Amino acid sequence: MAEKKGEQASVDIYRVLLEAGKKQKRMKREALLKELGFKEFFEDGNIRVDMKTCKGVECQFCIKVCPTKALYWKAGEVAITEDLCVYCSSCVLNCMVDNCIEVKRKRQDGENERLSNPRDVHRLWERLNMKKRMDALKMILPDPETYLKRYRKPLFKIEEQNK
Ligand code: SF4
Ligand code: SF4
Repeated sequence: MAEKKGEQASVDIYRVLLEAGKKQKRMKREALLKELGFKEFFEDGNIRVDMKTCKGVECQFCIKVCPTKALYWKAGEVAITEDLCVYCSSCVLNCMVDNCIEVKRKRQDGENERLSNPRDVHRLWERLNMKKRMDALKMILPDPETYLKRYRKPLFKIEEQNK
């Protein structure tokens, strides 16, 4: 029983230390981005570049388009400063090789996204734009009654048209 209590305590201490480490890292990152004038749009995320498929020296598009300079050229390959990446996905959109760069990110509303080629990015834009349009439509026409009130022609006008 005592052993179990000890085990529980060590697990809790480990979790507390892990959480504290994460918090410290997040604070450092926030301070750095703030100082450089970059805004964070996502709660969390990560990025990886597959060096086996990367065209590297012939390409470097990702480095050119990265707005925060999180990507850079080092020792003959693309390197990442993770603390500077805001998971914007510009690099994914411009990479010439599918699935070479993978960005995973968590939106403020808790939704998770995974982007690894330009089609993923375009599909996401389409989905977000559709949602915006539907939200705008709902504000203008919240229910069928509002629609009918606004657009249904009075009966006598229809009868006149049919004469
Ligand atoms: S996701 Fe955006 S900020 Fe991050 S490395 Fe790619 S281009 Fe740079
Ligand atoms: S854009 Fe893609 S292929 Fe080109 S250097 Fe960057 S990761 Fe490599």
